[in-house]
Amino acid sequence: DIAIAEEEQHIFRSKFSAVPVPQETTLPEFVLQDAEDYADKVALVEASTGKTYTYGEVVRDTRRFAKALRSVGLRKGHVVVVVLPNLAIYPVVALGIMSAGGVFSGANPLALPLEIRKQVEDSDARLIVTNGVTHDKVKDLRVPIVVVGERQVADAISWDDLLEASDRAGPSEVEEKVRQGDLCALPYSSGTTGSSKGVMLTHRNLVANLCSSLFSVGPDMIGHVTVLGLMPFFHIYGITGICCASLRNKGKVVVMDRFELRAFLHALIAHQVHFAPIVPAIMLAMVKSPIVDDEFDLGTLQLRTVMTAAAPLAPELLAAFEDKFPGVQVQEAYGLTEHSCITLTHGDPRKGHSIAKKNSVGFILPNLEVKFVDPDTGRSLPKNTPGEVCVRSQCVMQGYYKNREETERTVDPEGWLHTGDVGYIDDDGDVFIMDRIKELIKYKGFQVAPAELEAILVSHPSVDDAAVFALPDEEAGEIPAACVVMCPHAKDSEEAIMKYVASNVATYKRIRVLHFVDSIPKSASGKILRRLLRENVAQKSTSQ
Ligand code: AMP
Repeated sequence: DIAIAEEEQHIFRSKFSAVPVPQETTLPEFVLQDAEDYADKVALVEASTGKTYTYGEVVRDTRRFAKALRSVGLRKGHVVVVVLPNLAIYPVVALGIMSAGGVFSGANPLALPLEIRKQVEDSDARLIVTNGVTHDKVKDLRVPIVVVGERQVADAISWDDLLEASDRAGPSEVEEKVRQGDLCALPYSSGTTGSSKGVMLTHRNLVANLCSSLFSVGPDMIGHVTVLGLMPFFHIYGITGICCASLRNKGKVVVMDRFELRAFLHALIAHQVHFAPIVPAIMLAMVKSPIVDDEFDLGTLQLRTVMTAAAPLAPELLAAFEDKFPGVQVQEAYGLTEHSCITLTHGDPRKGHSIAKKNSVGFILPNLEVKFVDPDTGRSLPKNTPGEVCVRSQCVMQGYYKNREETERTVDPEGWLHTGDVGYIDDDGDVFIMDRIKELIKYKGFQVAPAELEAILVSHPSVDDAAVFALPDEEAGEIPAACVVMCPHAKDSEEAIMKYVASNVATYKRIRVLHFVDSIPKSASGKILRRLLRENVAQKSTSQ
């Protein structure tokens, strides 16, 4: 078959050799392998409180929590929603759930109660883990709640009481063996279209992603790297890319629960952070703010590398950053929740790798296959020709929870994950991401699903129709914008409609630009022509 033969010619693989992936180990076993040999070493430290977790404590409390979960009836495949900011205990909670055979589903602690309710209901969660601060957001849900960091919270079990009761109860009854093919995580992502959906990931998905992304870590680095844990742990970038990767390498994570420039720079210096995974919005603050030079002695920074992922990095920002921090290497990375995290990344020249070109998102990680597909014909394209990025590997999700239609739209019968991003690979195997054809908006790296905001807009009594799309923004990367068709005789102002949306969503999802229009342009099949809207609105604001 000539078509297939041609297709095969345009499948690209890593320029680095394949790496082995253990096929039996669960994620907690893989991550905490030999951890007891490092029992006294600090694994996690909270920058704001100084609270630490040693490797010994991580192993002990992961086991204790897993046993306690089983003792309260958690069974294989049961989902636990975690509504916590970044805390040192967070990876222990996630690994404990997975060790018990449960499925960890992180929720954004900044989300509003009704947004968290949606995730709890959609995921059929059996339990919620939260703390004294976020407890208020979940207390009315009819799901048992475990609260960390507090002894007494009405209608909830405290973490300490739960673990102590389980310790007293002695050994647990026969355990169900957790296998690598079992689900272990259900992060939420809107994917290429529609609202947020549960992304079904197995232990194998995440172990495979760690093996690929850690391929370049040499023995000399084990136990010697301090990494900044600022990216949200409810997101796969935070929990796997940072926490699990660092625990596997016996490094130390400096945990921060929010970005504030002074505290961030202080933590980098005080904890001698070597590696800081961040997003472009943070790089912008590092470059622009005068306090960086005025108040901090950058000479004392031990920072060797910043990794930036989750959103495009503007070439001007990269150049300005390199100018200001000449000793710090910038490694861009590209990934997505549906691919268990990292997919493309830069190498480290100090480890003998040729680093990918500036402004490329990097090379293909070992073990992965990538192709670039013409969205109109479905055919794979040769190098240097932009197309939709498709990935095939052991890291591809099992599908969207309870959503076969969206799963089939995203993962084709040959196992290719269609990312909704457009890019190309050059002669040296470096990949460039140029555009996003999926609906998703990324505000400072956070996902915002247009479909969700459109549903809120049309629920307003004066709104007839609405479309939401991304507008470029220097600080946030992208901001959510809307075009709205008002009902005849409606009197509400643009501000009133924006306020209405704001009262229904977390701050980062707010609509920042809103225009009234006569109609929403749609394709023959009824799809909103978001690109056209974006171009019209962008043009309007430049001509003003
Ligand atoms: P998430 O599932 O929240 O990690 O979002 C994944 C999406 O973020 C990707 O499909 C891209 O659209 C975008 N993204 C991630 N990393 C990059 C990057 N380095 N450059 C451009 N876009 C990126």
